[in-house]
Amino acid sequence: MQITCEIIRDLLPLYHDHVCSEDSCKLVDEHLATCAKCRMELEQMNTEIKVKNNLDDVKVIKNISKKWKMDRVSAFLMGSLFLSILACIGCVVSFHIIGSYVAADGTLVEPFALIPLSYIFGFIALLSGVVLGITYMVKNKRRPK
Ligand SMILES: [Zn+2]
Repeated sequence: MQITCEIIRDLLPLYHDHVCSEDSCKLVDEHLATCAKCRMELEQMNTEIKVKNNLDDVKVIKNISKKWKMDRVSAFLMGSLFLSILACIGCVVSFHIIGSYVAADGTLVEPFALIPLSYIFGFIALLSGVVLGITYMVKNKRRPK
């Protein structure tokens, strides 16, 4: 029986993946030695699979960097949340320790503007908490259980 290019092309995927029988492998080897067209076919198969693997790698890296970015944002928000809560409490506590007094002309004199600072930190804490909650919700929504 004449071994045609058609038969070899049917066998090429198996040959490429090294899953064909020894006899088929020998047959393909012999044919490839004499047929440039089928050699090209095999080469093309190699490059196609390489490209596919590269695309998969890029996808994986993209997913990892996306996740990492998300985690970094959450970490930043968490840090700013705790820091601003601490700063807020610190301001209120030190305000109560240092105290304030009403000046002779009726204006409230507070040291180091602690009350406005505690409001600012409190606001930052609230903002971080809200954004953190939103990102957490978005994250959980994206990850189906
Ligand atoms: Zn051929």
